[in-house]
Amino acid sequence: MMNVCFQCGMYHADKTIDPSGPFAICPDCGYKHPFKQLPLLIVSGASGSGKTTVCQHLLGQVTRLVLLDSDILWRPEFNTPDTNYRDFFETWLRVCKNISQSGRPVVLFGAGVGVPENIENCIERRYFSKVHYLALVCSDMAISDRLQHRPIWRGTREPTFEEEHIRFNRWFMEYDSQPPIKIINTTNAPPGTTAMQVGAWIDKIVRPSD
Ligand SMILES: [Zn+2]
Repeated sequence: MMNVCFQCGMYHADKTIDPSGPFAICPDCGYKHPFKQLPLLIVSGASGSGKTTVCQHLLGQVTRLVLLDSDILWRPEFNTPDTNYRDFFETWLRVCKNISQSGRPVVLFGAGVGVPENIENCIERRYFSKVHYLALVCSDMAISDRLQHRPIWRGTREPTFEEEHIRFNRWFMEYDSQPPIKIINTTNAPPGTTAMQVGAWIDKIVRPSD
């Protein structure tokens, strides 16, 4: 429960970070809370780009990081486009921050978390040394084909859903800003190959010997 001060007991998500510790400093009493400021890794992409398949491939293979799918916490009360789903992203960063305190960084898989402005503007962002973004992309045809083959209950065969995710997929391909997003094209790649590429990206950021 990192947001509750050990000294004065007040709740603050917006502590001041002193990188020399690093410490999270309580704005009420000045207590310097030592914490682990680890990187956060995000694997994103539109629906149908291959995120879930890659996550399944890497689960149990990559064990020095914690792999999580952001969909597992989704609830109707998070569906607040007027706030740009802020509570959902803050909640995820708080979960990842607390997991990180056990010494293992998180790889978070999900669509919306891959848009840097959704994450970089969050109050909880400060507790990570850096957020690394990767997006899986593929051709419009591949997205469409994959979404049409999902079970009907998921709603991915709806034309509006498909159009939205084709647009989102193109947004990643055209993204040319800061922070950078590493792009991996999955159009013709077998899932195992994509998973290996993502695994290599993870290894580069959090070296196996660390
Ligand atoms: Zn305090």
